[in-house]
Amino acid sequence: MSDHPEHPADPAVPAGPAEPVLPADPDALRPESRLVHPTPVDPGGRPMGIPLHQSHLFAFESSEALTAAFAGPDGAFFYNRFGNPTVRSLEDAVAELEGGAAALATASGMGAINTVLLALLRSGDHVIAQRSLYGGTFAMLADLAERWGVELTHVGGDDPDEVAAALRPNTRLLHLETVSNPTTRVTDLPALIAVAKRAGVLSVVDNTFATPLLCRPIEHGADVVVHSATKYLGGHSDVLAGIAVFADAELHRTVWHYATELGASADPFAAWLTLRGLQTLALRVRRHCDTALDLATRLSAHPAVTAVHYPGLPFHPDHELARRLLPAGHGGVLAFDLAGGREAARAFTGAVRLASLAPSLGGVHTLVLHPASTSHRQLSDEELAAAGIGPGTVRVSVGIEHPEDLWADLEQALAKP
Ligand SMILES: *Cc1c(COP(=O)(O)O)cnc(C)c1O
Repeated sequence: MSDHPEHPADPAVPAGPAEPVLPADPDALRPESRLVHPTPVDPGGRPMGIPLHQSHLFAFESSEALTAAFAGPDGAFFYNRFGNPTVRSLEDAVAELEGGAAALATASGMGAINTVLLALLRSGDHVIAQRSLYGGTFAMLADLAERWGVELTHVGGDDPDEVAAALRPNTRLLHLETVSNPTTRVTDLPALIAVAKRAGVLSVVDNTFATPLLCRPIEHGADVVVHSATKYLGGHSDVLAGIAVFADAELHRTVWHYATELGASADPFAAWLTLRGLQTLALRVRRHCDTALDLATRLSAHPAVTAVHYPGLPFHPDHELARRLLPAGHGGVLAFDLAGGREAARAFTGAVRLASLAPSLGGVHTLVLHPASTSHRQLSDEELAAAGIGPGTVRVSVGIEHPEDLWADLEQALAKP
């Protein structure tokens, strides 16, 4: 994916990076000079791990070669804000997984979302966005509306007619999430994106919860897919990163250009950690899905639980849609409501032992969270109810521990007063 056929490298210009050019006899240099220029070792064999290019700068043989590097995202690497080989390896890997033309890795998921929105929107544009959005995205869109003159309409995730009715002549972008947090409602991507497409409106889908192994929004017409790679792609609670994948190389080029000015580019080490995580993504996602369905089923039969939200359960409101859109599995996040309300939820989240009380998801460790007092604490009781979140709703990001150990932990925590 690094050779975009649209932008073939100019064969007349030699590409960097070059071997270090030192005086004929490097040993003749004084220690002060030699220390700054150690000689790298050629590994000989092919490294099985993707090499970590922890260099923010690359040198060239000629000024022509450096000039050529400035031409665009497909030129040689010269400065990390514009690109880095380790970061590009991650971008290529995720672009391929999502079925996109090219990708842009960023310092965080919010970095990816902001880069895309700021690159594609201008004052006076209208955005249609889902109502139930990741908190940071919701706040960012509200800020664009309040301070930057972007018009904003929120819609649900299931009614194409509502999207059609929201369209204005200046509508530029539709922003959706494949699966919503924390109630795991599934968005009807094909139907909603089709409305946008007919109107010439760009569709951006946050696919963090589904991962490209369960859903590939570009196949359903999305123009841009964004991820918090902090979650499943990285998967080990050790890296903050994001990525945006573009269906079209020209759109990637536009956003890349803006990204080089914004400065939210991914750090090579973060990209390297994410690449390391990606190698086990398929195994992890399989395990997350299997264990989540198992725990959701057992929770549904527990007397302290009044409702379980997991798209894999037959009584989930989006179960049929989930079977179509996420045929390989329904993800690792579930939520459930406790009969005892707010106090019971607080007691439960404080009583887990194998699971941890922490506000993230998508990693190998099982995490629990009480949205009403943490991620969604700004919402009034009415707003919470409108979002399907009860005072006693608990979210679980199911990890890859043994399901029996997890169930034993949830059961003992449910037994606490
Ligand atoms: C976590 C998350 C984000 C933000 O990602 P960061 O890496 O924390 O910046 C965006 N969208 C969704 C759905 C998320 O879960």
